[in-house]
Amino acid sequence: MEEIKADILILGSGGAGLFAALHAYDSNPRLKIVLATKGLIGKCGCSRMVQGGYNVVLDPKDSVELHFKDTIKGGAFINNQELAWTLVNDAPKRIHEMETKIGCFFDRREDGRIHQKPFAGQSFDRTVHRGDLTGIEIIARATDQVFARDITVLEETRGLELLTNSNGDRVVGALLMNIRTGQFIVVNAKAVIVATGGSASMYKISAPSFDKTGDGMAMCWRAGAEFVDMEMLQFHPTGLLAGKSRLSGSVLEEGLRGAGGRLYNAIGERFMERYDPERLERSTRDRVARAGYMEIMAGRGTPAGGVLLDMSHLGAEFVESKFPGMCERVRDIGKDLAREPVEVSPTAHFQMGGVRIDVNCYSSLKGLFVAGEDAGGVHGANRLGGNGIADSTVFGARAGDAAAEFAQSQDWVPVDQVQVKMFTNNVLKFFGRADGPDVYQLRDELKNLMWEKVGVVRTGQKLEQALKRLAEMSEEVERAKLPTGSLRGYNLALNEILNLRNQLVVAQLVAASALYRKESRGSHYREDFPETDNQNWLCNIFMRKKGDGYFIETRPVKLTRLRPEDVAAK
Ligand SMILES: Cc1cc2nc3c(=O)[nH]c(=O)nc-3n(C[C@H](O)[C@H](O)[C@H](O)COP(=O)(O)OP(=O)(O)OC[C@H]3O[C@@H](n4cnc5c(N)ncnc54)[C@H](O)[C@@H]3O)c2cc1C
Repeated sequence: MEEIKADILILGSGGAGLFAALHAYDSNPRLKIVLATKGLIGKCGCSRMVQGGYNVVLDPKDSVELHFKDTIKGGAFINNQELAWTLVNDAPKRIHEMETKIGCFFDRREDGRIHQKPFAGQSFDRTVHRGDLTGIEIIARATDQVFARDITVLEETRGLELLTNSNGDRVVGALLMNIRTGQFIVVNAKAVIVATGGSASMYKISAPSFDKTGDGMAMCWRAGAEFVDMEMLQFHPTGLLAGKSRLSGSVLEEGLRGAGGRLYNAIGERFMERYDPERLERSTRDRVARAGYMEIMAGRGTPAGGVLLDMSHLGAEFVESKFPGMCERVRDIGKDLAREPVEVSPTAHFQMGGVRIDVNCYSSLKGLFVAGEDAGGVHGANRLGGNGIADSTVFGARAGDAAAEFAQSQDWVPVDQVQVKMFTNNVLKFFGRADGPDVYQLRDELKNLMWEKVGVVRTGQKLEQALKRLAEMSEEVERAKLPTGSLRGYNLALNEILNLRNQLVVAQLVAASALYRKESRGSHYREDFPETDNQNWLCNIFMRKKGDGYFIETRPVKLTRLRPEDVAAK
């Protein structure tokens, strides 16, 4: 088995993984840095899919205090305020770095200043963008920078498990699998940065790239890291509905509503007038998504189970010039976004919950750093559009800096070969198994189950039913069959089993935490507890592994900078 010794191992090559690699290397070019990614670098993950843009304070009339306040209000006050404060303060530094060091070009105004557009939930137009394909600009340039440095890149190589010391409190590396050959790789690392980007793809209608299946979160969970607010999962209000096409669920960006796009139900009502008369379609994502879902459930949806997004009143020329990428996406399914209403549905989009970190991305396990969507706390109960890519680049950079500092002061802790054997056996056991549950059926069942019982509108009863079935499915996946004569290399069924195993872990954390929170807040809506209850639930929910089960508890939110009454009073 191939063994690599590295100072720092990074899992994932989205905004968080790439910025972690660049910052770790630039902190100390003598460090041996290995970046392993499940997809092709520069082509995988959701950072590349970022359409709308990047929230950052650049205009003197704007302020980090305002950006912070919007973020905390959007997050319904359960954000970790120190993380949110770090986000808004570091974002200008990262945009400056991107333009001056990494080579990104963002759209500009006529006077030469960077153009900033409106996004929902913001009190100031602060979203920096490159047309409506901002992610490609950031990720392509950052990838070039990684290639320009002495960083070892392992593409199509997935992290399987984190390796720990005998006490289980120190991460000492990770077991990887080269997807092309099916061969295992052991990396003994002083520091591991997990940046694999969450698991929203476990829902029937979802927006993220298919390579993201909760691997990092599941690895961190099995290794014993603490998690926060796992119930908080965001549904974007305008996922494209395109029948069985793989484009179904893909996002029609927030800027469309920001620019004046309107939502109608099937009987022609502009339904946001009922749900948020003040902000209408520019209300926060959770509200607009729930409103759309309620309309569909009330029988006022389209035959395909959606609502309608209409841009036509803004003029075709405006829509086509401002949103060329969105128009092209909709043209792919034979519709014309600039001239006719398009069917959309809420779509699972982003996980606000995740591994608990501090401002330097230290997790509760020594040697384990987590950044981007795998980490929780920055966005509280709801992420503002434009704060996601800011999060991954800000905290990716911080994880890289902190891991570099950590690695310089540490020795390697040897890998436990018994543990490695146990983990490899846990993968190899599937080969030669002709009978057993079908992984594709299980995967489809998971997506439907999550959509129906752990989705936009939840109840205690539905969550309990989901948890029961998820536990059974977790056993079934361990008995899944692999086609006889399966080869190790590019084994799609095996990879699907490994994906599903991880998604089931994350799904159970989301459902258990959702059952625990007996109120509605941000993206978490309980039909049986429809009100926000600051008296009892202005708190975060923490979970960690305990034997085969889990330990769950609440702790009051630390309102270090802003309290709900400060906002209400104004
Ligand atoms: C369609 C869409 C549009 C969006 N638009 C915006 C926007 O306009 N503005 C905004 O702020 N946010 C937006 N977001 C959210 C934003 O994309 C995310 O917040 C952010 O990109 C997450 O970055 P990340 O680095 O954590 O993960 P990602 O960029 O998703 O990267 C995850 C990486 O981990 C790799 N990986 C997965 N599993 C493994 C494994 N087992 N081992 C190794 N590597 C692994 C993947 O291949 C990938 O390289 C959008 C999201 C989507 C889906």
